Amino acid sequence: MIWAVGVAPSPAGKWLKAATDRAGRVRVQQDLSVPGHPEIFVIGDTASLDQDGHPLPGVAQGAMQQGRYAGMLIHRRIVAKSAPPPLHYFDKGTMAVVGKGFAVLQSGRLRLSGFLAWLAWAAVHLDFLAQVASLDPFSRALVKNLRARALPSIEPMACIWLPLCSVENVRGKRGNRKTH
Ligand SMILES: Cc1cc2nc3c(=O)[nH]c(=O)nc-3n(C[C@H](O)[C@H](O)[C@H](O)COP(=O)(O)OP(=O)(O)OC[C@H]3O[C@@H](n4cnc5c(N)ncnc54)[C@H](O)[C@@H]3O)c2cc1C
Repeated sequence: MIWAVGVAPSPAGKWLKAATDRAGRVRVQQDLSVPGHPEIFVIGDTASLDQDGHPLPGVAQGAMQQGRYAGMLIHRRIVAKSAPPPLHYFDKGTMAVVGKGFAVLQSGRLRLSGFLAWLAWAAVHLDFLAQVASLDPFSRALVKNLRARALPSIEPMACIWLPLCSVENVRGKRGNRKTH
């Protein structure tokens, strides 16, 4: 399998005049702040942070954990509480869809491939989308758009066990009537 993808680094390192790694990601401290700037946080794909001697991977779960951490840290500062301990990334595992109804999954010792792994992938992703959709009207609109564009193949099946979409929507799609 050949997978080629081009991802340009964020120019944030240049704006901030901060040290970057070879990929152009901003080197941050254990609390995700930029060295010398405790008021500036860089997270996700734009940040470069090592843990146990290895750089943290540029994946969604890393970005989400960093986002939660930075949010918590800022909140604690505002309410004048002590700083939390340094971020510790927890690797929940890896999933990838590699075909129609076929995925691979690795989490700790668990290794799965095939339809079962695909079901797990669909459940996890739709669960996160459902969480985002419950936040505010903008997020709901965003999720609707994503669902309409990216999930038509998995959504009808996901509706069997997730309260993400209504029965009317599924019927509407199958009957080629109004969708969202
Ligand atoms: C092809 C591909 C497949 C991937 N597959 C997986 C996968 O299967 N599993 C996984 O965990 N990860 C995967 N990743 C990695 C994952 O997408 C990223 O690690 C994750 O999205 C990082 O989140 P982020 O919030 O740091 O950045 P992003 O999700 O990229 O969000 C950054 C946002 O900032 C916006 N932005 C950029 N510049 C500006 C600006 N100047 N002003 C305002 N907004 C701006 C962008 O438009 C974007 O919406 C994949 C990445 C790619 C490219």
